[in-house]
Amino acid sequence: MQLHVVTHPQCLEHSAGFGHPERPERLTAILDRLHEPQWAGRITWHEAPEATEPQLFRVHLSGYLDFIRESSERGGARLDPDTATNRESWQAALRAAGGAAHAARLALSEQAGTFAAVRPPGHHALADRAMGFCLINNVVVAARDGLAQEGVERILIVDWDVHHGNGTQALVERDPSIRYISLHQWPHYPGTGAEQERGVGNIWNIPRPGGLLPEEYMHDLCAAIDEATDGWCPDLILVSAGFDSMSLDPLAGFTLRVEDYTVLTEKLRSCGGPVAGVLEGGYSLENLSSGVAAFLEALS
Ligand SMILES: [Zn+2]
Repeated sequence: MQLHVVTHPQCLEHSAGFGHPERPERLTAILDRLHEPQWAGRITWHEAPEATEPQLFRVHLSGYLDFIRESSERGGARLDPDTATNRESWQAALRAAGGAAHAARLALSEQAGTFAAVRPPGHHALADRAMGFCLINNVVVAARDGLAQEGVERILIVDWDVHHGNGTQALVERDPSIRYISLHQWPHYPGTGAEQERGVGNIWNIPRPGGLLPEEYMHDLCAAIDEATDGWCPDLILVSAGFDSMSLDPLAGFTLRVEDYTVLTEKLRSCGGPVAGVLEGGYSLENLSSGVAAFLEALS
């Protein structure tokens, strides 16, 4: 099956400062990998459009968006201890959110696997607050935009980034048309994501300590996917595709292997709807490019 990858050069220009782990080289490593000869002819490349105001206003408060845009255009700002912008960040964030929404639309229209190779990431961003390297919640922009498409009534978001997507949960936990599953290290940043946090019955949190066997993480995540999709067939599956859940990530302690993302992706493909991935974390460049390649190989 043909793959569709959405990206934009402006996503390389956002920087949170020298030495920051969420760095442009992350995206460069992925793009270099996907331009290797074995992918030639298998990927259709798409330029990420800027997210539109209606797409953004379904997720974020207008005053917050104005603040991010204005502070970025003035040269950048420190937004929390881990999150900062430069002059290019607003444009990068618009392309990241627009790219995620475009990947979701392509997945629906082509019934094919798609991936938004974009940054800054999004799953910690709240309606009115940047945090954890995230400015705009790209995956929720994509989900809400997907639900605005004709015939789309149910969206599953699977978040295998090692951190809990507190922003995603907060934004969808009262919306039964979106189900959200997150496997994450706990205790760990950002501290949310307890198993008892169930939203309106649409949230599945799987908090686990670091250092378990990969089979244990896989078993529990697969069980949650089974439960969330039992009698509930999603029209679209979005993956908050963070690869900091892999062994030896510098920011976390999970132990997933590259082949685990193949198994997970094949499992999601068997759930019904087309699959669109949106890049989140992952701070080992080798892990990141290998994880994305395994994900796309399984999608094809
Ligand atoms: Zn993460």
